[in-house]
Amino acid sequence: LGSSTFIMQTEGVIVVGNGQVGKTSMITRFAKGIFTNEYKKTIGVDFLEKRTFLKDVGEEVTYLLWDTAGQEEYDAITRAYYKGAGACILAFSTTDRDSFDAIESWYKKVHDECGNLVMVLVQNKVDLLDEAVVEAKEVETLAKKLRLKLYRTCVKDDLNVSEVFNHLGNEFVKNG
Ligand code: GDP
Ligand code: MG
Repeated sequence: LGSSTFIMQTEGVIVVGNGQVGKTSMITRFAKGIFTNEYKKTIGVDFLEKRTFLKDVGEEVTYLLWDTAGQEEYDAITRAYYKGAGACILAFSTTDRDSFDAIESWYKKVHDECGNLVMVLVQNKVDLLDEAVVEAKEVETLAKKLRLKLYRTCVKDDLNVSEVFNHLGNEFVKNG
């Protein structure tokens, strides 16, 4: 009796940040294992699902990945996505100063809408450190201030992407 009970953990993850920082690329990389400069033509969706086994906690999690494709400027539309999310990736780009400066306001927006969901700070495009417009130190300072775990990723070369999602999944499972 009860032996067939099957609990599937699902975690809604939203990826927010300014346009062009690599949000869609990150979701596509994680869920489909590909990187393309022409994602819109090739993929053309704003929602992807990915099932993963989390070794650390011994649980299988299905991520529901919400992109905020092309809606960066429309608060009202983006806010609809925040509801029901269990985790959030705040992303900015190494080569886009505005995207870094916008992180705190993204943080506030998500926090106001969702309360305490698991958040993580992601600095993407670390393959372009030569063209960096953000100092490593100030990124670390911001992460500390907002109490966020910081990941530096290169979605293009698949550096640290699965680590970000594993972290969110582990936190999610641990916190119930
Ligand atoms: P979004 O607007 O935040 O969804 O950003 P996209 O995923 O559309 O990416 C914007 C551009 O940055 C695209 O041309 C991507 O190919 C490129 N891109 C994404 N990640 C990286 C990365 O890690 N390194 C480099 N060099 N380019 C990237
Ligand atoms: Mg996008």
